[in-house]
Parts: sequence; C-alpha cells; structure tokens
Amino acid sequence: MVVADQLQGDMQRIALELLGAARGLAEKLGVKVQALVMGHELGDMPQRLIWNGADEVFVVDQPELKEYTTLTYRRAVISVLKTLPRPPHIVLCGATTIGRDLAPRIAAYFETGLTADCTELDIGDYEHKGKADPAKVGTYNNCLYAIRPSFGESLKARIIGPWKNPQMATARAGVMVPVGEDTTRTGKITAVPVSFEQSDFRVKVIETVRDMSKTVDLTKAKVIVSGGFGLGSADGFSVVSDLASAFKDSAVGSSRKAVDAGWIPYAHQVGQTGKSVRPELYIALGISGAIQHRVGMSNSHTIIAVNKDEKAPIFQFAHYGIVGDLYDVAPILKEQLSKAMKAAGKEA
Ligand SMILES: Cc1cc2nc3c(=O)[nH]c(=O)nc-3n(C[C@H](O)[C@H](O)[C@H](O)COP(=O)(O)OP(=O)(O)OC[C@H]3O[C@@H](n4cnc5c(N)ncnc54)[C@H](O)[C@@H]3O)c2cc1C
Repeated sequence: MVVADQLQGDMQRIALELLGAARGLAEKLGVKVQALVMGHELGDMPQRLIWNGADEVFVVDQPELKEYTTLTYRRAVISVLKTLPRPPHIVLCGATTIGRDLAPRIAAYFETGLTADCTELDIGDYEHKGKADPAKVGTYNNCLYAIRPSFGESLKARIIGPWKNPQMATARAGVMVPVGEDTTRTGKITAVPVSFEQSDFRVKVIETVRDMSKTVDLTKAKVIVSGGFGLGSADGFSVVSDLASAFKDSAVGSSRKAVDAGWIPYAHQVGQTGKSVRPELYIALGISGAIQHRVGMSNSHTIIAVNKDEKAPIFQFAHYGIVGDLYDVAPILKEQLSKAMKAAGKEA
C-alpha cells in the first residue's frame, strides 16, 4: 500500500514515484497495489492514482483533513488499515515532511519496523540462522528489501524486517520511476468515513503560507545546471542561471558546499542531504563530484561536468567531461547546446 502525499489539493510527484515502485514489488509478489489518499476536496486524485498504477484506492475526504496534522492523519490512516482483513504486506510512504512524520506513527501502531530514506526497494527471501534470536530461526519468503545508502553513502545497506507486517519504508523523492499515466487503467475506489476524537485536534493549523520564492522543484526539471564551490562566490550563480535559462523546464542546483557558504538557499542542494534528482541532462559547473553529491544525481540520463582539475572525481562518472575554467566554458556551452538543439529541431 502506498500512502499518497498531497499538499493543499495538489498530488505530489512522490505519490506517483511510489506507485511505480509498488507496481514492481506487487508484480513480484503477485498481489494488487493499493493506495491511500487523505485530505479534503480531493477531486480526481483517487482516479489519477489508478491511472498511475494503483489497483484499489482508499479515500478519506473530510474537512478535518484539509490541513495536515499528525494526529488527524494518523487517525485516518489507522482507521483505513483497520478496515482491512489483515495488515498490508508492505506500506510505503514518501520521505517527505509529511511521510517522515506519518510513517513512524503507522509503524509504532503496528509495532513493526521502518526503514527511512530508501533509494531502492526489492523483494527477496531471508534465512535467519538465529544466533541472536533462536526463536526466529527459519526462512522468510517475500521480504521487503529496503535498500539505502549507509556509512556516509559509501555502502548500500539492505534492511529487512520479516517478522511482522506491514513491512515499511519511506523512499526518497526523485529516485523511483513512475509508470506513467494511462487513462484506460481501471480500479476500485473505496471511500472510508473516519470518526475523529477530540484529542486528535490538540494541534490547530491557523494558516498555511507557502513561500513560493523559495520553492525550487528540482525533481520535476528536465535539465538541471548546478554550481559548486568552484564558482568562487555567490555571484557565480548568475552564470549557472544563465546557462539554465537556455533550456525549457530547467532548474538551478548546487552542491552543499555552495549552500553552506551561503551562496544559494538549501532548496537548491542536490545530494545525500539535499534532493535526489534524475533529469534528462545534469550540468555540473565547478563541482568536484564527492560521493555525497554523486548519490543525488548519478541517475541523471546525461551528465556533463566542467572542472578545471582533470583529476576531479566527477570525471569518473560524467558522460561528458570538459576540463577548463567554468567561466570560459559555460557561455560556449550555452551557445553550442542551443545551436545543437535548434539543429535537431528541439526547442531549447
Ligand atoms: C554527511 C554529509 C552529507 C553531505 N551531503 C551533501 C549533499 O547533499 N550534497 C553535496 O553536494 N555535498 C554533500 N556533502 C559535502 C560533500 O562531501 C562535498 O564537500 C561537497 O559536495 C563539495 O562541494 P563542491 O564539489 O562544490 O566543492 P569542492 O569539493 O571544493 O569542489 C570544487 C571544484 O571546483 C573546481 N573548480 C574550482 N574553480 C573552478 C573554475 N573556475 N572552473 C572550473 N572548476 C573549478 C575544483 O577543481 C573542484 O573540483 C556532504 C558531506 C557529508 C559529510
């Protein structure tokens, strides 16, 4: 079951990414994909979840859920799960502000495990030899393999919790791949009424203000041009923005070192402690390619790196590397890429 994130009536892309991952898992298990969406005035969201891979959608659409609060959403999710004959085999949430808050509440209710911030999910068996816990010796089939980087991203850990269902994970945004919308897909939509208790309203949201000036949706951009410490100063980001402006659906990203220097807000950071992205084109200007940056962008379709140090680690995984000063290279790159795209009949 996927717990689908929506924010003030906008379906969040992570919901579609989780459905993509869930479809892969469900096919291996031979089961259906369920989704749960909660909120108020959800419109065609349940239908869209079906078009994007769910077989069955549970909907809680009530005024109490207009704004996210931990206790009301917890009540809603637990109420829905209680209507099922048995807990789902797997529950997936986004590693978003809401998912990170809600998933532990669900896990605590079921007294089950939860792996946070996964970058891969799979199904497999587990043999417990039982030195630590002889009572649990045996082979456990169809376990959720919740896979995530560990030890400063130098290792991938495969974490399992086979003892109890649901087996739970949150997944990072921008990593899993949606299946794509198919408006001919059909499925079942079940509305579940939820009764709240007075104690669920201990927190009241008075007003929600979304600061759009600080909102950068890196996960939706087709082209990301990122700047690093090699820019030398905050002003260097004008070169990054200028190159990004040559492309439709583009965004400006950055390394953490540039964020830490105060040159650009955190919302632009790509990497382990920033966003995970997989655009069609990722251009890195003055970024060394540290592992913590790499884990957030190495799934990009094409990576172009510009660095004046020919030994910079980024050249080991970039598809195209240009050794040179970014201030010389970026304008030429803009001109050449624009020309190439026009020649190919694509709008830049
Ligand atoms: C727990 C943890 C989490 C982290 N999370 C993240 C994260 O999410 N994202 C992230 O990015 N980092 C993260 N880091 C930091 C990471 O380890 C690196 O320090 C950081 O990515 C380096 O940023 P950078 O490449 O911009 O800077 P540097 O490593 O200093 O590299 C600058 C590069 O610019 C080149 N350069 C200099 N001048 C020019 C020029 N004029 N033209 C062309 N090239 C030039 C240099 O040769 C150099 O390769 C994390 C670290 C830790 C410990």
